[in-house]
Amino acid sequence: MTDATARHPRWSLALHGGAGSMTPDILGPEMQDAYRDALGTALDAGTAVLRRGGSALDAVEAAVMALEDDPLFNAGRGAVFTFEGKNELDAAIMDGATLSAGSATGLLRTKNPVRAARAVMEETLHVMLANDGANRFAEEQGIEQVDPAYFATAERRRQWEEFSQKKDAWFDTDLKYGTVGAVARDADGHVAAATSTGGLTGKRWGRVGDSPVIGAGTYADDRSCAISATGTGETFIELAAGHEIGARMRMLNETVEEAVAAVLTELGAKGGNGGVIYAGADGTTGFAFNTPGMYRARADADGMRETAIFAGE
Ligand code: ASP
Repeated sequence: MTDATARHPRWSLALHGGAGSMTPDILGPEMQDAYRDALGTALDAGTAVLRRGGSALDAVEAAVMALEDDPLFNAGRGAVFTFEGKNELDAAIMDGATLSAGSATGLLRTKNPVRAARAVMEETLHVMLANDGANRFAEEQGIEQVDPAYFATAERRRQWEEFSQKKDAWFDTDLKYGTVGAVARDADGHVAAATSTGGLTGKRWGRVGDSPVIGAGTYADDRSCAISATGTGETFIELAAGHEIGARMRMLNETVEEAVAAVLTELGAKGGNGGVIYAGADGTTGFAFNTPGMYRARADADGMRETAIFAGE
Protein backbone atom coordinates (compact mmCIF):
# COMPACT_ATOMS: atom_id res chain seq x y z
CA MET A 1 0.00 0.00 0.00
CA THR A 2 1.30 3.47 -0.77
CA ASP A 3 -0.09 6.74 0.35
CA ALA A 4 1.38 10.13 -0.42
CA THR A 5 0.51 13.75 -0.61
CA ALA A 6 1.24 15.76 -3.73
CA ARG A 7 1.31 19.04 -1.82
CA HIS A 8 4.58 20.81 -1.07
CA PRO A 9 4.35 22.23 2.44
CA ARG A 10 7.06 24.39 4.02
CA TRP A 11 7.95 21.65 6.47
CA SER A 12 6.75 18.11 6.99
CA LEU A 13 7.39 15.16 9.27
CA ALA A 14 6.45 11.48 9.10
CA LEU A 15 7.17 8.76 11.63
CA HIS A 16 6.61 5.06 12.20
CA GLY A 17 6.47 2.69 15.12
CA GLY A 18 6.98 -0.46 13.07
CA ALA A 19 5.13 -2.43 10.41
CA GLY A 20 3.46 -5.74 11.14
CA SER A 21 0.58 -8.13 11.16
CA MET A 22 -1.80 -5.94 13.16
CA THR A 23 -5.44 -5.97 12.10
CA PRO A 24 -8.43 -4.47 13.94
CA ASP A 25 -9.29 -7.97 15.28
CA ILE A 26 -5.84 -8.55 16.75
CA LEU A 27 -5.42 -5.06 18.13
CA GLY A 28 -8.45 -4.12 20.23
CA PRO A 29 -9.84 -0.57 20.53
CA GLU A 30 -7.94 0.19 23.74
CA MET A 31 -4.57 -0.76 22.29
CA GLN A 32 -5.38 1.14 19.11
CA ASP A 33 -6.04 4.26 21.17
CA ALA A 34 -2.84 3.75 23.15
CA TYR A 35 -0.79 3.47 19.94
CA ARG A 36 -2.48 6.48 18.36
CA ASP A 37 -1.82 8.56 21.48
CA ALA A 38 1.82 7.50 21.54
CA LEU A 39 2.24 8.32 17.84
CA GLY A 40 0.56 11.70 18.44
CA THR A 41 2.95 12.49 21.29
CA ALA A 42 5.96 11.76 19.08
CA LEU A 43 4.45 13.78 16.24
CA ASP A 44 4.02 16.74 18.59
CA ALA A 45 7.64 16.44 19.77
CA GLY A 46 8.93 16.54 16.19
CA THR A 47 6.58 19.18 14.82
CA ALA A 48 7.30 21.52 17.76
CA VAL A 49 10.89 21.69 16.48
CA LEU A 50 9.88 22.37 12.88
CA ARG A 51 7.21 24.90 13.84
CA ARG A 52 9.78 27.09 15.56
CA GLY A 53 12.05 26.93 12.51
CA GLY A 54 14.26 24.11 13.82
CA SER A 55 16.13 21.67 11.61
CA ALA A 56 14.88 18.39 10.17
CA LEU A 57 17.74 16.74 12.07
CA ASP A 58 16.55 18.07 15.44
CA ALA A 59 12.96 17.16 14.56
CA VAL A 60 13.66 13.51 13.72
CA GLU A 61 15.79 13.15 16.85
CA ALA A 62 13.01 14.60 19.03
CA ALA A 63 10.33 12.38 17.47
CA VAL A 64 12.45 9.24 17.79
CA MET A 65 13.34 10.02 21.41
CA ALA A 66 9.61 10.22 22.25
CA LEU A 67 9.06 6.82 20.60
CA GLU A 68 12.10 5.33 22.38
CA ASP A 69 10.66 6.49 25.70
CA ASP A 70 7.34 4.76 25.03
CA PRO A 71 7.29 1.09 26.08
CA LEU A 72 4.83 0.21 23.30
CA PHE A 73 7.56 0.30 20.68
CA ASN A 74 10.59 -1.88 20.03
CA ALA A 75 13.17 0.84 20.67
CA GLY A 76 14.63 2.16 23.90
CA ARG A 77 12.20 1.16 26.67
CA GLY A 78 10.14 -1.76 25.35
CA ALA A 79 12.88 -3.17 23.13
CA VAL A 80 12.67 -6.86 22.23
CA PHE A 81 14.89 -9.47 23.89
CA THR A 82 17.88 -11.15 22.31
CA PHE A 83 18.40 -14.91 22.29
CA GLU A 84 20.19 -14.54 25.63
CA GLY A 85 17.36 -12.48 27.11
CA LYS A 86 18.98 -9.04 26.93
CA ASN A 87 18.07 -5.78 25.24
CA GLU A 88 20.63 -4.65 22.65
CA LEU A 89 19.79 -1.39 20.98
CA ASP A 90 20.70 0.00 17.57
CA ALA A 91 20.10 3.48 16.13
CA ALA A 92 21.11 5.72 13.27
CA ILE A 93 20.63 9.28 12.11
CA MET A 94 21.47 11.04 8.86
CA ASP A 95 21.54 14.66 7.73
CA GLY A 96 20.47 15.05 4.10
CA ALA A 97 22.07 18.49 3.84
CA THR A 98 25.62 17.25 4.38
CA LEU A 99 25.26 13.48 3.87
CA SER A 100 26.71 13.11 7.37
CA ALA A 101 25.55 10.09 9.32
CA GLY A 102 26.06 8.37 12.66
CA SER A 103 25.04 5.04 14.05
CA ALA A 104 25.54 2.87 17.12
CA THR A 105 24.79 -0.81 17.62
CA GLY A 106 24.64 -3.09 20.62
CA LEU A 107 23.92 -0.34 23.15
CA LEU A 108 23.06 -1.77 26.55
CA ARG A 109 22.53 1.22 28.82
CA THR A 110 21.85 4.30 26.67
CA LYS A 111 18.35 5.54 27.43
CA ASN A 112 17.94 7.15 24.00
CA PRO A 113 20.08 5.33 21.42
CA VAL A 114 19.37 7.96 18.75
CA ARG A 115 21.33 10.45 20.87
CA ALA A 116 24.35 8.17 20.76
CA ALA A 117 23.99 7.90 16.97
CA ARG A 118 23.91 11.66 16.68
CA ALA A 119 26.98 12.01 18.87
CA VAL A 120 28.84 9.53 16.64
CA MET A 121 27.95 11.77 13.70
CA GLU A 122 28.86 15.04 15.36
CA GLU A 123 31.64 14.20 17.80
CA THR A 124 33.73 11.60 15.95
CA LEU A 125 35.29 11.11 12.54
CA HIS A 126 33.44 7.78 12.32
CA VAL A 127 30.02 6.75 11.10
CA MET A 128 29.36 3.53 13.01
CA LEU A 129 30.37 2.33 16.47
CA ALA A 130 29.52 -1.14 17.77
CA ASN A 131 29.08 -3.02 21.04
CA ASP A 132 31.66 -2.33 23.82
CA GLY A 133 33.09 0.67 22.05
CA ALA A 134 29.69 2.17 21.34
CA ASN A 135 28.70 1.70 24.98
CA ARG A 136 31.89 3.32 26.25
CA PHE A 137 31.53 6.18 23.79
CA ALA A 138 27.93 6.96 24.80
CA GLU A 139 28.96 6.99 28.44
CA GLU A 140 31.98 9.21 27.79
CA GLN A 141 29.77 11.63 25.90
CA GLY A 142 27.64 12.07 29.02
CA ILE A 143 24.56 10.67 27.26
CA GLU A 144 22.07 9.46 29.86
CA GLN A 145 22.77 5.85 30.93
CA VAL A 146 20.22 3.65 32.70
CA ASP A 147 20.12 0.26 34.39
CA PRO A 148 19.48 -2.34 31.63
CA ALA A 149 16.32 -3.35 33.53
CA TYR A 150 14.82 -0.03 32.42
CA PHE A 151 14.36 -1.36 28.87
CA ALA A 152 12.64 -4.64 29.80
CA THR A 153 8.85 -4.83 29.75
CA ALA A 154 6.65 -7.77 30.77
CA GLU A 155 5.13 -8.05 27.28
CA ARG A 156 8.52 -8.29 25.56
CA ARG A 157 9.63 -10.89 28.09
CA ARG A 158 6.48 -12.88 27.31
CA GLN A 159 7.25 -12.69 23.56
CA TRP A 160 10.80 -13.85 24.25
CA GLU A 161 9.57 -16.78 26.34
CA GLU A 162 7.20 -17.74 23.53
CA PHE A 163 10.09 -17.51 21.07
CA SER A 164 12.36 -19.60 23.32
CA GLN A 165 9.92 -22.52 23.17
CA LYS A 166 10.32 -22.69 19.38
CA LYS A 167 13.55 -24.61 19.38
CA ASP A 168 14.40 -24.24 15.70
CA ALA A 169 13.63 -20.55 15.20
CA TRP A 170 16.35 -18.16 14.03
CA PHE A 171 14.39 -15.25 15.33
CA ASP A 172 10.81 -14.17 15.65
CA THR A 173 9.29 -14.06 12.19
CA ASP A 174 5.75 -13.34 13.32
CA LEU A 175 5.72 -10.01 11.51
CA LYS A 176 5.83 -8.03 14.73
CA TYR A 177 8.18 -5.21 13.91
CA GLY A 178 8.18 -2.34 16.36
CA THR A 179 11.19 -0.40 15.22
CA VAL A 180 10.68 3.36 15.27
CA GLY A 181 11.79 6.03 12.85
CA ALA A 182 11.18 9.55 11.64
CA VAL A 183 11.84 11.54 8.48
CA ALA A 184 11.44 15.26 8.00
CA ARG A 185 11.91 18.14 5.64
CA ASP A 186 12.49 21.51 7.30
CA ALA A 187 11.65 25.06 6.23
CA ASP A 188 15.15 25.45 4.76
CA GLY A 189 14.52 22.50 2.45
CA HIS A 190 16.78 20.01 4.22
CA VAL A 191 15.76 16.43 4.93
CA ALA A 192 16.86 14.06 7.71
CA ALA A 193 16.11 10.53 8.88
CA ALA A 194 16.51 8.62 12.14
CA THR A 195 15.71 5.03 13.11
CA SER A 196 15.98 3.20 16.44
CA THR A 197 15.34 -0.42 17.32
CA GLY A 198 15.85 -3.37 19.61
CA GLY A 199 16.13 -5.50 16.47
CA LEU A 200 14.32 -8.83 16.28
CA THR A 201 13.28 -11.05 19.19
CA GLY A 202 15.79 -13.88 19.57
CA LYS A 203 18.61 -12.24 17.59
CA ARG A 204 22.05 -13.62 18.47
CA TRP A 205 25.73 -13.57 17.63
CA GLY A 206 25.66 -9.78 17.62
CA ARG A 207 23.14 -9.73 14.77
CA VAL A 208 22.66 -6.25 13.36
CA GLY A 209 19.61 -5.35 11.29
CA ASP A 210 19.01 -2.62 8.74
CA SER A 211 18.09 0.20 11.13
CA PRO A 212 21.65 1.32 11.99
CA VAL A 213 23.03 0.49 8.54
CA ILE A 214 23.30 3.73 6.59
CA GLY A 215 21.78 3.24 3.15
CA ALA A 216 19.66 0.28 4.27
CA GLY A 217 17.12 1.21 6.98
CA THR A 218 18.17 4.83 7.31
CA TYR A 219 19.14 7.30 4.61
CA ALA A 220 18.76 11.01 3.84
CA ASP A 221 19.89 13.07 0.87
CA ASP A 222 18.65 16.57 0.04
CA ARG A 223 18.86 15.66 -3.64
CA SER A 224 16.16 13.02 -3.22
CA CYS A 225 14.53 12.12 0.08
CA ALA A 226 14.82 10.83 3.63
CA ILE A 227 13.92 7.20 4.40
CA SER A 228 13.37 5.14 7.56
CA ALA A 229 12.50 1.46 7.24
CA THR A 230 10.99 -1.30 9.33
CA GLY A 231 10.66 -5.01 8.65
CA THR A 232 12.92 -7.94 7.85
CA GLY A 233 16.18 -6.08 8.23
CA GLU A 234 18.29 -8.59 6.32
CA THR A 235 16.37 -7.94 3.09
CA PHE A 236 16.55 -4.17 3.48
CA ILE A 237 20.32 -4.50 3.86
CA GLU A 238 20.65 -6.75 0.82
CA LEU A 239 18.75 -4.25 -1.31
CA ALA A 240 20.50 -1.23 0.25
CA ALA A 241 16.88 -0.08 0.29
CA GLY A 242 17.22 3.48 1.61
CA HIS A 243 20.02 4.39 -0.75
CA GLU A 244 18.38 2.58 -3.65
CA ILE A 245 15.24 4.69 -3.33
CA GLY A 246 17.26 7.92 -3.46
CA ALA A 247 19.42 6.62 -6.31
CA ARG A 248 16.37 5.74 -8.41
CA MET A 249 15.06 9.27 -7.93
CA ARG A 250 18.36 10.86 -8.92
CA MET A 251 19.26 8.59 -11.80
CA LEU A 252 15.94 7.41 -13.18
CA ASN A 253 14.06 10.63 -12.41
CA GLU A 254 11.42 8.65 -10.56
CA THR A 255 9.15 10.39 -8.07
CA VAL A 256 9.61 9.33 -4.46
CA GLU A 257 6.39 7.29 -4.68
CA GLU A 258 7.62 5.43 -7.77
CA ALA A 259 11.05 4.75 -6.31
CA VAL A 260 9.62 3.49 -3.03
CA ALA A 261 7.08 1.28 -4.82
CA ALA A 262 9.80 -0.25 -7.03
CA VAL A 263 12.05 -1.08 -4.07
CA LEU A 264 9.17 -2.53 -2.06
CA THR A 265 8.29 -4.76 -5.01
CA GLU A 266 11.89 -6.04 -5.00
CA LEU A 267 11.68 -6.50 -1.23
CA GLY A 268 8.52 -8.60 -1.57
CA ALA A 269 10.03 -10.65 -4.40
CA LYS A 270 12.91 -11.55 -2.10
CA GLY A 271 10.48 -12.60 0.62
CA GLY A 272 11.00 -9.45 2.70
CA ASN A 273 8.28 -7.82 4.76
CA GLY A 274 7.81 -4.36 6.12
CA GLY A 275 7.86 -0.87 4.75
CA VAL A 276 9.33 2.60 4.70
CA ILE A 277 8.35 6.14 5.51
CA TYR A 278 9.66 8.94 3.34
CA ALA A 279 10.01 12.70 3.17
CA GLY A 280 10.88 14.02 -0.26
CA ALA A 281 13.07 17.07 -0.62
CA ASP A 282 9.94 18.79 -1.97
CA GLY A 283 8.11 18.15 1.31
CA THR A 284 6.11 15.15 0.07
CA THR A 285 5.61 12.61 2.85
CA GLY A 286 4.22 9.12 2.73
CA PHE A 287 4.24 5.51 3.84
CA ALA A 288 4.51 2.27 1.91
CA PHE A 289 4.39 -1.27 3.31
CA ASN A 290 3.49 -4.81 2.36
CA THR A 291 2.26 -5.89 5.81
CA PRO A 292 -1.33 -5.57 7.08
CA GLY A 293 -0.40 -2.50 9.09
CA MET A 294 2.18 0.06 10.07
CA TYR A 295 2.04 2.32 13.12
CA ARG A 296 2.47 5.70 11.47
CA ALA A 297 1.78 9.41 11.63
CA ARG A 298 2.57 12.56 9.75
CA ALA A 299 2.04 16.30 9.87
CA ASP A 300 2.98 19.36 7.88
CA ALA A 301 3.06 23.15 7.95
CA ASP A 302 -0.28 23.35 6.11
CA GLY A 303 -2.11 21.80 9.06
CA MET A 304 -2.26 18.19 7.87
CA ARG A 305 -2.06 15.82 10.87
CA GLU A 306 -2.79 12.09 10.67
CA THR A 307 -2.18 8.96 12.69
CA ALA A 308 -2.94 5.51 11.28
CA ILE A 309 -2.31 1.84 11.98
CA PHE A 310 -4.01 -0.40 9.39
CA ALA A 311 -3.57 -0.54 5.63
CA GLY A 312 -6.10 1.57 3.80
CA GLU A 313 -6.63 4.05 6.64
N1 ASP B 1 14.11 -3.79 10.81
C1 ASP B 1 14.36 -4.15 12.17
C2 ASP B 1 15.54 -5.12 12.20
O1 ASP B 1 15.65 -5.94 11.32
C3 ASP B 1 13.20 -4.78 12.85
C4 ASP B 1 11.93 -3.95 12.87
O2 ASP B 1 11.65 -3.25 11.90
O3 ASP B 1 11.22 -3.99 13.89
O4 ASP B 1 16.31 -5.07 13.14
